[in-house]
Amino acid sequence: MTPICRRCFLVALAACLLAADAGAAVLKSRRFEGGEYVLISDIAYYYHLGRNTSNDRETVSYRDLVAKADRREITLNGIQHWLSAPIHFYQGKLWMSATDVLKTVDPVLRQGRVAKPLAVRTIVLDPGHGGNESGATTRRSVEKTLVLDLAKRLQQQLEARGLRVSLTRTTDRLLSLESRPAFAAQKNADLFVSLHLNSGGNASGIETFCLTPAKAVSTAAAFRGWQATRDQNSYRGNRHDEQNIWLAHCIQKSLIRSTAAHDRGVRRARFVVIRDAPCPAVLVEAGFLSNATEERKLLTADYRNRLAKAIADGILAYKAGVEKK
Ligand SMILES: [Zn+2]
Repeated sequence: MTPICRRCFLVALAACLLAADAGAAVLKSRRFEGGEYVLISDIAYYYHLGRNTSNDRETVSYRDLVAKADRREITLNGIQHWLSAPIHFYQGKLWMSATDVLKTVDPVLRQGRVAKPLAVRTIVLDPGHGGNESGATTRRSVEKTLVLDLAKRLQQQLEARGLRVSLTRTTDRLLSLESRPAFAAQKNADLFVSLHLNSGGNASGIETFCLTPAKAVSTAAAFRGWQATRDQNSYRGNRHDEQNIWLAHCIQKSLIRSTAAHDRGVRRARFVVIRDAPCPAVLVEAGFLSNATEERKLLTADYRNRLAKAIADGILAYKAGVEKK
C-alpha cells in the first residue's frame, strides 16, 4: 500500500475534493442527507483493495473491506468494526460516512503508521473492578479475580518482551474509575489496557472498545441522523483517536485469531477509563462469564495464558505499526 499524506487526506474530506496520493487516487466526499459521505468504491481504489467480488448491489466485498447497506458493522482487515453511521445506499451505490473513513478505515488500513513514529515502552494494565465491586459474577466465578489474574499473566508476557508494565491494582481493592487513567498519567504510560469479562445471557465472544470520536455515535446508541446524534464534545482520549482504533484492532484481531472465539468486533464507547486516558487506550471484554462454555474455558489457567499471550501479541503488532518509519 502506498503511504498517504495525512494532512492531505484530512483536507480532502473537509474540502470535499482533493488529490491525496500524488495522483494515484482522488478521494472525494459528498454531502447529502445532512452528512458527509465517501463512495466505497473510491475507498477501495484509494487503498488498493482490489475488485468487488459481490454480486449483490447492496453489499461490497473487497480484500480487507466487506460492507452492507444499512449496517453499522463492517469487516475491516478480517475483523468486525462498528461504525458510527450505517452504510448508505444512495443513487444505486454504497457510501460510508467521512467520519468513519477517517477515524476507522484509514488508521487500520495504514496499519497504524503515522508521520512521526511513536515509541512504546511503558504499559499500564487495568484489571476492572475490585474490592466490594465484583463485576460479573456467577456461582463459580468472579470477574474482579479473573481479570486480576489475567493482568498478571499479561504483565509477565509483556515484561518478557522488554516492555515496562504497571498495574492499576495488584490486589483485590476498589479503585474509582477516574483514578485508573490518572494512574496511567502518573506512570507516563504509552498505552493503557483495561481488562474485563462480560455478562449477558447466552451471548458469547470477545469485543474490544475504544473511545468514540468527537461528533460520532457510540456503538450502543442508535444512529438517528447526523443532526440528532452528534456529541460535539472532544475528550482527553480523543487526542489519540488514530492510535486508539489501531490498538483496538490489533488486540481484537490477535484475540480472535488465537482463541477462535466469536468476533463481536471493535466497538465504540465513552467509558470513563478510556475517555480520560492520557495515552492510546482500549477496554477488552475477553469473554462472557454468563455463557457456560466460555466460563469453563475462562476458569482454566491454560486459556487465560492464551488470552494473555494474544493480547501481548496484539500490543506488539500495534507497536510495530506506530514505530515504523
Ligand atoms: Zn467489568
